Amino acid sequence: MTFQQLGVIDPILRALSAEGYTNPTPIQEQSIPILLRGKDLLGCAQTGTGKTAAFAIPILQHLYLKHQNKQNHRGHRKIKALIVTPTRELAIQIGESFSVYGEHTGIKNTVIFGGVKQGAQTRILERGVDVLVATPGRLLDLIGQGFISLKDVEYSVLDEADRMLDMGFIKDINKILDKVPENRQTSLFSATMDRNIWKICNKYMNKPEKILVSKDEITLEEIEQRFIKVDHNSRYPVLKELIGEQNIQKAIIFTRTKRGAYRLSKKLKNGGFNAGALHGDLTQSQRDKVTRGFRK
Ligand code: AMP
Repeated sequence: MTFQQLGVIDPILRALSAEGYTNPTPIQEQSIPILLRGKDLLGCAQTGTGKTAAFAIPILQHLYLKHQNKQNHRGHRKIKALIVTPTRELAIQIGESFSVYGEHTGIKNTVIFGGVKQGAQTRILERGVDVLVATPGRLLDLIGQGFISLKDVEYSVLDEADRMLDMGFIKDINKILDKVPENRQTSLFSATMDRNIWKICNKYMNKPEKILVSKDEITLEEIEQRFIKVDHNSRYPVLKELIGEQNIQKAIIFTRTKRGAYRLSKKLKNGGFNAGALHGDLTQSQRDKVTRGFRK
């Protein structure tokens, strides 16, 4: 299967091929045709499956085909697609994906999230964008201040819906969806489906088509997995040995607790490794510092 066979148009195909995407992932193969037909979609899928492109490509294609003639860039752009996602990091990634896949479409996106001053975000909004990627709190805040209107939204996406609900955003999600015109297309992605997700579906979606990407389709073939059983005290020596043995230059190590992450990073630093800990007790600027350091 190719993206062309899924009906993706040339300006987007060129961007995908420049990104090195040769074939659609399973979720893209299933979602893109449904969304291109204009149907609502309920996707049970996790991050890492390629779900961002699964919803971004159809939105870009619809907007490009519908609005390219009208968009001589003189009139003020109105928000026609809204993506709501739980965290700043996800929002930024989604915005970058829209820019990459939409490079040859002329469609503009911006990203808004809380925890930073709003000035830079509102200036871009005032100039006008087609696609808005937002975390729920900041979105409602800027709607309240009159910087954002959702009355022209034709496409809405709830990304990682279960995480948003876990984070206590249920009321916010309802408030946001109440402000979006009813005849929009809605997609909802969630790793898990529970009663509250179904409630949102029933209230805000129009006979959604359901797709499920199973866990074993997620693991990329290039990833080799190993399981090593060790007792508590051998964990650090074994870890050190593994890193050395394979001459690993860059690694992400997951721990069960925040304290565990902190302790392990300290041990690694003492052992001569360049390590940092990332967990929920850090401030945004501390987190940025760690992720920047990791990228470098
Ligand atoms: P996501 O689940 O949307 O966060 O995507 C996971 C990763 O897969 C991202 O780094 C994407 O750039 C990459 N990706 C998405 N679709 C494809 C594809 N069709 N071929 C290769 N890589 C892809």
